[in-house]
Amino acid sequence: MEFTVDTDERLTIVDVTDRVRDAIPDGVESGLCTAFVRHTTAGLVVQENESRLRGDLEAFLDGLVPDTGHAHDQPDGNADSHLRATLLGPSVTVPVEDGDPALGTWQSILFVECDGPRTRTVSVTTVGD
Ligand code: ZN
Repeated sequence: MEFTVDTDERLTIVDVTDRVRDAIPDGVESGLCTAFVRHTTAGLVVQENESRLRGDLEAFLDGLVPDTGHAHDQPDGNADSHLRATLLGPSVTVPVEDGDPALGTWQSILFVECDGPRTRTVSVTTVGD
């Protein structure tokens, strides 16, 4: 299963918890679910979806990685996006219980766009029974 995520800013965060939940096949009650971004300048994290915290995370990534001064800027102009995505990683794996992602009360699956605006593909693989 896969779904797409559209963004309208360069560095932005989208809650994809419901879309991952919808991608878990009917009939799988217990197992593991991995969501994976098929891109080198976006990532996935499990974190609280609170608007000010999303802003804090964006500012955190922006502050950790300078926009300019990287070798890859020569061919592509987006080294900062690759480096930010490297810090996040391309996937999250969550347990599946009763057919749903078994997240904590304050946990959401957040897609982090580091080189938008773009349309991205997220694949969801579920193993279990
Ligand atoms: Zn690049």
